[in-house]
Amino acid sequence: MQFIDLEIQQKRIRTALDTRIREVLKHGQYIMGPEVARLEEALSRYTGTAHAVACSSGTDALLMALMAHEVSPGDAVFTTPFTFMATAEVISLLGATPVFVDIDPGTFNLDPDHLEHALDALAHGNPKQYPLPRTSAARALNPRGVIAVDLYGLPADYDRINALADKHGLFVLQDAAQSFGARRNGKMACAMATIGCTSFFPAKPLGGYGDGGMCFTDDPDLAQKLRSLRVHGQGSHKYENVRIGLNGRLDTLQAAILLAKFDVFPEELTLRQTVAGRYEDLLSGGGSPVVPPRIPGDCVSAWAQYTVVSREEDGRPTLQERLKKAGIPTAVYYPTPLHLQPAYAHLGYKPGDFPSSEDRARRVLSLPMHPYLSWEDQQTIAGAILG
Ligand SMILES: *Cc1c(COP(=O)(O)O)cnc(C)c1O
Repeated sequence: MQFIDLEIQQKRIRTALDTRIREVLKHGQYIMGPEVARLEEALSRYTGTAHAVACSSGTDALLMALMAHEVSPGDAVFTTPFTFMATAEVISLLGATPVFVDIDPGTFNLDPDHLEHALDALAHGNPKQYPLPRTSAARALNPRGVIAVDLYGLPADYDRINALADKHGLFVLQDAAQSFGARRNGKMACAMATIGCTSFFPAKPLGGYGDGGMCFTDDPDLAQKLRSLRVHGQGSHKYENVRIGLNGRLDTLQAAILLAKFDVFPEELTLRQTVAGRYEDLLSGGGSPVVPPRIPGDCVSAWAQYTVVSREEDGRPTLQERLKKAGIPTAVYYPTPLHLQPAYAHLGYKPGDFPSSEDRARRVLSLPMHPYLSWEDQQTIAGAILG
């Protein structure tokens, strides 16, 4: 059994993949070839956004989005500590400071109530109201934006996050690396914030065969900036540079592969709902040692991960061991919240600053999840969990 099985999908779309790859080899435009624009057009239509800018990874999508907002040293960007390092790393790369905000333990996503407390605390320079970076410069930080993360594929509460951001004049980025295809209140993931950023890392819901990412926005000025940033801050011609940018392009070959994968993506998303529904049926009994994820009524998750929470605070190692013995791969996303990572020691956060993130980091366990997971395999998995 595999945690994420990419071979079944490849068998299904092999002919289409071969055809698309052969076309690129034939026209030879390996950099910014026609497939890149075709992919941007298809995905902007799918997400209901006006502009899509393909780029080299989900991390670079976030970095370019912050650069488009001209984030710089002295700026504060609010985000969750219960995420992959990339979300906060890009803030630090630009010399700005991540200000962490705890999660809602039920959805694993940034809690808007906590965001409000953190905004107030920073405005008053008062870490007694809410834990703030304990750096000497923390008092003088200039609040600029929020990066909300759609963990495991479930969109964060953008209605409330956007309302708070509007009130304080902040931009909002949607880290939709795990949620491409998800929905909330009739909106698609990547269309819920100022800029939506996704990743095409192979294990993501729409994964390629290498690195890739995309930015989405309705704002034409931001879209134009993103396109310029992607190629070294290009101006009106190749050798005019109007800003500092990067080489953030998506390979044509990768775009061709993603076009073939996108053809089956809507159907795969439906299959993921079926798989998640079966897990729910199997694992939600009163005697179950785990709590299955709960999806709010107005949401459809992209189910990048199916993540359960151990009922017992220290029950996870036993569960992991039982599953391992039964030949079932599992994973922990993420064992250490970012505020406790050595790389962020300089921010001076302490254990206990974000109790929900710390609790979930101890208890979460992700089970095998992909569109082609069989009912039989799911019964085996549930059998090993229920003991
Ligand atoms: C995967 C991921 C990223 C980074 O994407 P890459 O394409 O690997 O750079 C960023 N944020 C989250 C939440 C992710 O899961």
